Amino acid sequence: MLILVHYGEIALKGKNRRFFENKLTENIKRATGGRVRKLESRLVVEDGNPDHLKYVFGISWFAHAYRVEKNLGAIVDFILKKVGERVGESKSFGVFVKRADKQFPYTSPQIAEEIGAEVARKYGLKVRLKDPELPIYVEIAEDAFVYFEKIRGLGGLPVGANGKVLCLLSGGIDSAVASYLIMKRGCRVDFIHFHVFPQNQSVVDTKISDLVEVLNSYQFESKVFLVPYYPFQLALLNLDTDRKTRGYELVLFRRFMLRVSERIANRYGYQALVTGDSLGQVASQTLENIRAVSEVASLPVFRPLIAFDKQEIIDIARRIETYEISIRPYKDCCSIVAPHPKTRANLERLKALEEKLGIDEVVKKTLELVDVYPFEGSSLRELSRVLV
Ligand code: ATP
Ligand code: MG
Repeated sequence: MLILVHYGEIALKGKNRRFFENKLTENIKRATGGRVRKLESRLVVEDGNPDHLKYVFGISWFAHAYRVEKNLGAIVDFILKKVGERVGESKSFGVFVKRADKQFPYTSPQIAEEIGAEVARKYGLKVRLKDPELPIYVEIAEDAFVYFEKIRGLGGLPVGANGKVLCLLSGGIDSAVASYLIMKRGCRVDFIHFHVFPQNQSVVDTKISDLVEVLNSYQFESKVFLVPYYPFQLALLNLDTDRKTRGYELVLFRRFMLRVSERIANRYGYQALVTGDSLGQVASQTLENIRAVSEVASLPVFRPLIAFDKQEIIDIARRIETYEISIRPYKDCCSIVAPHPKTRANLERLKALEEKLGIDEVVKKTLELVDVYPFEGSSLRELSRVLV
């Protein structure tokens, strides 16, 4: 028994195709621990753990398949034997043939007809091509393969095929889903998290680790940059708050997070930042505020959820099993910074306030406090201080 993997979308990628195939091969090897061989437009996995394929992006579907001698008589005999084992109460069947090897002396319809006639005769089943109870799939490539079930893969593109990005992970529902979606487009995602603790180490035992563990299943290893937000908090305390300042704290904080993240991204070769913003979801995510925040970064900021409803985001979070972790209580900086943010921050005022905050100095101080935790398997390994 082996696993046959089909990969739809990456077959369409023109010149990139070879590169995507190699990346997918590498990822499958790593996920399953098996040997992977490339045949025409499909991969054959041997001696691997198929359970792990459900975490590999770039697979449109896969099947547990039998390799059969490439000869029509042998294929028919094999199928008759296997159908005998599987037929149970089934009343209908369908034969679906793909012939990649055009040297094979029979066409796909001829092969299907031959198999169909024998199965109908021996087991008295009726042919039904739409939704048969017993589908029979045959592929004639370098080898002949027979299988009875197609298992849907995650789709998307192989992680790592589209470069690496840095996701601002909050511990809430949205940014975990945003990370997943951007991974699905082939990006390797590392994480940066701003927290309220005096020490980075304190984050290790929080739900942030648990979220990264789930997301890490799709990419084998991740890095987590941990950043204390107290330098920003202290600077904010020193700012005389008057009516004009009030409500600006959260947008200032967002701009601060983006500045720090961008510095780290540039230092470590990330090509874009990712956030879980969704337009209009909360007061800080109005178009004006998103624009005011983006303004501080020159790297692209991806917001995969920008057009998603909360319910749609929650549905994905449940499916990928981050939801239950995300709703666990956690002291997030955003809730501390300001409960009632301005919905339309004025850019000139933001700049004036940052001047008063001494934002460049705050960013510099903060960067000195960043630690990076490599994440492999199921835990954050011991910290190592990053130099930014
Ligand atoms: P989430 O569910 O991801 O927390 P949210 O709807 O609560 O999203 P906000 O708290 O307004 O949204 O944050 C918007 C985005 O800013 C988040 O999706 C995340 O990308 C980023 N962000 C917020 N707080 C943090 C944090 N403490 N560390 C890193 N990024 C953060
Ligand atoms: Mg949040």
